[in-house]
Parts: sequence; C-alpha cells; structure tokens
Amino acid sequence: MDFLSAKARHDELVKLIEKYSREYYIEDNPSVDDQVYDQKMEELQALEAEWPELITRNSPTQRIIGTVLKGFNKITHKVQMLSLADVFNEEELVEWVKKVKKEVGEETEFVAEMKIDGLAMSLVYQDGELQYAATRGDGTTGEDVTTNVLTIPDIPTRIPLMGRVEVRGEIYMPKESLIKLNEERTKTGEPLFANARNAAAGSIRNLDSRIAKSRKLDGWRYYFTNAQDFGIKSHYEAVLKLKELGFSVNPEVRKVKTVEEILKYVAEYTEKRDNLSYDIDGIVLKVNNFDLYDALGYTAKTPKWAVAYKFPPKEVKTKLLDIIYTVGRTGKITPNAVLEPVRVAGSLVQRATLHNEDFVKDKGLKIGDTVVLRKAGDIIPEVVRALPDLRDGTEKDFEMIDACPVCGSKLEKIDAMHFCTNRNCPSRNIESLIHFASKDAMDIETMGEKICQEFFDLGIIRTIPDIYNIYKYRDKIIEMDGWSNKSIDKLLDAIEKSKKNSLERLLFGLGIKEVGSKMAKTLARRFETLDNLMKTSREDLLKINDIGEIVANSITAYFADEENLKLIQSLKDQNVNTMYLGTNKFDESNYFFDKKIVLTGSLEKFTRDKATKILEDLGAHVVNSVSKATNLVLCGKDPGSKFDKAQKLGVKIINEEEFINLIGGNEDEILE
Ligand code: NAD
Repeated sequence: MDFLSAKARHDELVKLIEKYSREYYIEDNPSVDDQVYDQKMEELQALEAEWPELITRNSPTQRIIGTVLKGFNKITHKVQMLSLADVFNEEELVEWVKKVKKEVGEETEFVAEMKIDGLAMSLVYQDGELQYAATRGDGTTGEDVTTNVLTIPDIPTRIPLMGRVEVRGEIYMPKESLIKLNEERTKTGEPLFANARNAAAGSIRNLDSRIAKSRKLDGWRYYFTNAQDFGIKSHYEAVLKLKELGFSVNPEVRKVKTVEEILKYVAEYTEKRDNLSYDIDGIVLKVNNFDLYDALGYTAKTPKWAVAYKFPPKEVKTKLLDIIYTVGRTGKITPNAVLEPVRVAGSLVQRATLHNEDFVKDKGLKIGDTVVLRKAGDIIPEVVRALPDLRDGTEKDFEMIDACPVCGSKLEKIDAMHFCTNRNCPSRNIESLIHFASKDAMDIETMGEKICQEFFDLGIIRTIPDIYNIYKYRDKIIEMDGWSNKSIDKLLDAIEKSKKNSLERLLFGLGIKEVGSKMAKTLARRFETLDNLMKTSREDLLKINDIGEIVANSITAYFADEENLKLIQSLKDQNVNTMYLGTNKFDESNYFFDKKIVLTGSLEKFTRDKATKILEDLGAHVVNSVSKATNLVLCGKDPGSKFDKAQKLGVKIINEEEFINLIGGNEDEILE
C-alpha cells in the first residue's frame, strides 16, 4: 500500500470509529458488535505502526472518546481516567507479561481480576464524606452522576478515612436485571439494550434518577487511585483496604506471578464466567507493586502496567463476500465462504467451510449477505445463519457449480456431496499427497503443503508411492532454491522413518472416504494388519459398533478398486509397515470401552490431552458437553458448569484418583 492509499484508508477508519464510539459511549446505543469495532481499531493501529506520520493527537488510538451529556455538571478528574490496552488471545497476553517482566524484573507480581462489563465510575470522598460520583467521559472531564449513583445500595456515602480519597470501580447491571429489563421493553415495544454495559451506562447517564433506581444496578470497586497517599504500596493491599473501608470488592481478585498461574486463572474464569451473576468480557491483569508504575509508564490512552485480556467472542457478524470451491483428496468439492475479515475467538477469520450445496441452501445464504459467524468448539469457524433483514437487494442467489473448478470434469453427486470424477485431477492428487504426509497421517516432517506442491509441479511426485522414491531426485532437489544437503537429509530421514509407522497412520493417510484418524485407529486396533482389514467383508465390518453403512461401503469400495490395490502393493514393495504396533490391543472388556466421557475442571496429574489419549486408547469417546447420553464425567479441581449439569442429570462423576484406579493404577504404562 502506498502512502496516499494508507492515508485514505486511515481517514475512512477514523470516521467509522468515531461514529461507532459516538453511538457506544455517548448515545449508549451501538450499531455494531464490539468485535467489529475492535477489528477496525486494530486495523487503524496496524496502519499507524506502518505509517507513523498518520498519527495525530486526534486519532482514536490516542484519545478516549466521550462527552458530557447536556444537563449534567462537568467534573475534571484529578488523575486522568484511562482505558486499558487490549489483548485478544493467550499468546498476546503471555507476550505482554514477558515484556513487563523483562522491563521491571522477572519476579514481578500481578493481580488478576474480572473485567466487568459495565461503566467506569470515580467516587471522591473528602474527610469521610462522598463528594461526587463521576463518569469517565473523555478521560479528563466526566459527568457528575452522584444522584443516580446513590440509588445503588452498596455505595457508601461515608467512609472511616480522613483526607481526600478517590476510589474507582465499575457500575454494572446484573444479568438477571438485564433480562428482566429487556423483557419489559419487549412488552412495551421499546428498543432492547444490546449488552449489560450499555444498559448500565444508559441508566446512570439519565437525568431522571428514578430510572437508575428502577434498573437494579450494582458495582465493584477495583482502584484506590491515591492509595499511596496512605502509605499503601501495592494494588492488592489497596484492594484489601477498600474492603476494610466498606466498599464492595470483587471476590475473584487474585495475586498471580508466573505465566502458568496467569493462564490457569484465565482458563478457570473462561469456564466459570457463565455462572457469575454479572457479565465479564475478559480478565484484567495489573502489576501489583505501585513503585513499578512510573517505570512502566503510560501511553496517551492506557497505563502500561495493566492489560485487558478480552474473551474470544462466541458469535460475530460479518459479510459473505463470495463463495469459492476447493477440491479435496477424494475429489470432494467444498464450497467455502469468503468473508470480510473479522476477529472471532481470538483469531482473524476470512474463510469458512460451507460443507456442501445443501448446507448453503438450508441456511438460505446469498452472496453479499450479512452472516453470523462463530467458532465451533472454539476452533473451526462456522457460518451459523444469514440475517435476511439486513439485505439491500444487491445480494446474489447461490448456484452450485456442475464442473470441477480445477480440471473442468463433470461433477458427480453422491448424497449431499459433489465429487470431481477425474481421478487424475491435479487438485485431488496434490491434496492426497499433502494429506498422506501430514502430521496426523504419516507425519513426514518438513513435507508440508509447499514442498508437496513444488515437487508435484516438477513431476518428482505424482502419486503417494512416489514419495518413497524422492531420494532418486537428490541431485535435482539440491539445485532448487532453499535446499541444502542438511535439509534434504532431514526430509529423506523423515520419509524413511514414516515407513515404520503403525498401521493407523497409513490407513488414515490413504485417504479412504469416511475414514478419519479416529476410525483409522479403531480399524487398526481391531484388525491388526492391513491384509486382515482388506479381507473383511462389508457384512463383517457392519458388525463393529462404530461402523455404519456409509463407512462400510466406503471401505469395501476402496479395497475393491484395482488402482488402490496397486498403490498398496507398491507401498508394501517399498517396505512401508502395514501392521498395528500399539501395545494396547482391542479390549471390549475394559471399563471405559465405548463410554462417552466429559472432562471438566483442572486436572492435576494429567494434562487434558494426556487424559484424552488414555481414554481414547481404551476405546472411550471423549466429548465436550454433558448430556443425558454422557456415561461419565472425569472431574478435576474447580469444575465449572459441566459438573453442575452432570449432577443435575445424575451422570456418574469420578475424580482423578478413581480414574487412575480404573485404568489400572499406572498411567505411564498405558501411555506406552
Ligand atoms: P475497555 O472496556 O476495553 O477497557 C477499559 C475499561 O475496563 C475501564 O474503563 C473500566 O471501565 C473497565 N474495567 C472493567 N473491569 C475492570 C477492572 N477490574 N480493572 C480496571 N478496569 C476495568 O476500554 P474502553 O476504552 O472503555 O472501551 C473499548 C471497548 O468498548 C472496545 O474494545 C469495544 O469492545 C467497546 N466499544 C464498542 C463499540 C461498538 O460500537 N460496539 C464502540 C466503542 C467501544
């Protein structure tokens, strides 16, 4: 991007952010989700980092936007009321912690607390008497909202401390109050509040204090702004002092020091947040020792000794710009959503699979629609629904293609899916090679997408068995850009090593339709050799618990195909192992076999991955949520809502010790 285009985009973003901020902070009525705002702000920050000459004092990155509503008196804050710098995922949070430690010492202690989704309030006392309560406003000047704040029962008007005292905190609307308020507003036809924060702000910034009183607001105090005037040396000590003075202090405040403790706190409240009676939108981390505040300093808008970790949003809105198609290793054609980039669950998303024609049609998606997006299981982005009310007539109907977008061959429809019928379609071939070499399949280190594509284009590999002949092209490869003797040796070693993999990796790597890595493992454990599996009839396959018609048909069709048999023979000729090498053989008699199990709370003896692996190796299905169909819940320390639900549904719950006993007392052995 050149300077002129950067400037034009900068102007555009500033205008947009100012509009959103006006709606949010001044009118308490946002028109877009927080994630849309956050993403625009991030884009603005990135642009200013690249073109620092675009930064002015007026940029939204440099100032807090807010104003004093007509009818309220102005209050000038003695100490500016700043905002907080945001981080949107755990990596960024850890990076921030490391930066602080590097700057002011490895031993730095932090205080972790809830980021309450309300509005900031400053309470100023003189010789024990409340003088006023003020909003943040633009950070320098706020609104005097004392009358309204006094309708909140737990705000003390007197405190047992002489001198000037400034206490800051958050006024919020409890979840229940917001639900009730919105129910009433539905009945009276008034517009609903978008979130607890805007509802609280709208109630406090209202000239009629009866409104604030009727809205059942509440609050927590989290700053003793001039604590140092009273000889207090740390934030944690200050919070305890506030409690002693009679202020409501959030009980979840905790001292934390190491990255592990911080991430544990984040994980704990990510799970517990739904059970709190008030909304939180993240975790705030503050340096504990006041002496370090000046050393760390401030930006124009935020202190550098604190940070807000924002929880990943569960659902966001964005635009469906186009639908494009990819061809998978089995020839399956997948429509994919091209989305206006948006941050969801901590990462920027611009593509999402739309699975197949029926999926798009069932959801009634049109190109140009505004859609709701979420991360399924917090990993895979998923288009949830279209928002037809937001259409303006320019949207285009979706029409499934009838020819392969890569080789132009006719498509064949099987059930809900379309397939390219050309088994030599270049896209299919490359995808099968990439899949075969991938981590969950044959795990050929360094042989990723780029190398597969490059070798394919040069004719070094065309089919899977060609991978085991790559060594013949050593002289050719060494002449290619980016290769050295060392990197070729590494690749060839990885290829050689893959020959010794256990059968399940090979089975998954072959890319048999419907055989994912879990199914491959079940088959490998059950049949022990590839030959045994190849000899098994469709009827015998159907006798196995996890195998239904579709899978059985697909497996038998795969092994009935001459081309596939040739491929397998060729792999055998290259000495690729075709036997199951796991020690834990198939055993239907073990306690966990075929049980649906949920893990909750923090496990102390195992990581979650380790416990999951043990259970899956024993033939259990580890699932995410508790339902009537769940057989067992393995519960660690401080469990969240899953534990409550299991109790309610009467699902059996075991702790780690019981788990160890049930697996035979020695988890290491089971893990091989
Ligand atoms: P912020 O809400 O990200 O963080 C600062 C605020 O956190 C403080 O002012 C304080 O009120 C609050 N807070 C809650 N718990 C706290 C604790 N324990 N310790 C300290 N502070 C605590 O920053 P902001 O500048 O107030 O608002 C920016 C955010 O507001 C954006 O990230 C976005 O989510 C939202 N926003 C949305 C729109 C929109 O149009 N949807 C527009 C503007 C802003």
